Amino acid sequence: MISKLPDVGTTIFTVMSQLAVEHNAINLGQGFPDFPMSSELTNLVNKAMQDGHNQYVHMNGLPLLTQRIAAKIEKLYQTSIDAAAQITVTPGGTYAIYTSLTTILHAGDEVIVFEPAYDSYIPNIEINGAKAIRISLQYPTYNIPWHEVKQKVNAKTKAIIINSPHNPTGAVLSKDDMTQLQSIVDGTSIYIVSDEVYEHLIFDGIRHESILLYPELLKRAFVCFSFGKTYHCTGWKIGYCISAADIMKEFRKVHQFNCFSCNSPVQFALAEYLLNEDAYLSLGDQMQQKRDYLRTLMQATPFKLIPSHGSYFECYSYAGFSNETDKDFVMRLTKEKGVVAIPISAFYKEATDNKVVRFCFAKREETLKKAVDKIMS
Ligand code: GLN
Repeated sequence: MISKLPDVGTTIFTVMSQLAVEHNAINLGQGFPDFPMSSELTNLVNKAMQDGHNQYVHMNGLPLLTQRIAAKIEKLYQTSIDAAAQITVTPGGTYAIYTSLTTILHAGDEVIVFEPAYDSYIPNIEINGAKAIRISLQYPTYNIPWHEVKQKVNAKTKAIIINSPHNPTGAVLSKDDMTQLQSIVDGTSIYIVSDEVYEHLIFDGIRHESILLYPELLKRAFVCFSFGKTYHCTGWKIGYCISAADIMKEFRKVHQFNCFSCNSPVQFALAEYLLNEDAYLSLGDQMQQKRDYLRTLMQATPFKLIPSHGSYFECYSYAGFSNETDKDFVMRLTKEKGVVAIPISAFYKEATDNKVVRFCFAKREETLKKAVDKIMS
């Protein structure tokens, strides 16, 4: 059999974006902004190209960029990171997660994953011959049921994947969650893969509980970040992974024979742009305004809010007014109303029927207004 992923179809994001084009619908599905990114940053890329920075940089990432990332981390999380040994620039956060899992997984290993789970995690586990041990987040808060994690951890558990702020729900992990995680992995050889691509997109004054704040967890973690999400340029496909030096050494063995090194002019530009602290510190407030704008508009609809505290997304339940499965529901929303959303069941391996859909609010206000007008029509 050729397929290593026999149960996997085309990712829901591609499917729904394609449908949006076919039906000329407003795309609140796939997570990408429809407003312009910083022209200061695009000008810096242009300059880097004109200056001749167009050949390979170091496979671990441009040293100036990794140093600036380390400086930013020192400031934000009071954690000292050795840029040369602990940071690798990657073509996006998803690649960083895939490479982390591929670095550690052997056939028969188990990985604990919380559902709804970002759609790449389980295929990333299975392609490595390992098994996903799925645990449902508690509905509707999407908190982690730690007692269940404790029960499921065993000698085969190789890793636990966490994601905060969480895609698709916008749930965020608390200090207490981190303490629980720490007590579970303490004394084991379990790794943690931490998806923190929405690090700066966190709302309501909540602190982002990065693994970088917990030295005992960082020792065993791969922490994955995305510049695309931070700077609203998802198509640039650039991010980075941070881990302990001994783990990063293994990560780089995989990375060097896959993408080897990432886009050079973009790295020069990002190294410069990282000096602009306000550009990332103001992000949470800006995005929270969009979340709140969509929330206010949605109050006029029969959808029931499931509050998000971070990310590009907010989930809504339609259980109060329709019995359809979420896949049927989003199809009808696309065809009849001209608005695209993501069905939450796409983030579960086995069919679920929560009657919840995810909307992306990283859009211009006029786009959000138009979408809700269409929903109401
Ligand atoms: N992370 C984005 C989302 O959740 C999509 C990325 C992708 O399409 N692979 O919508």
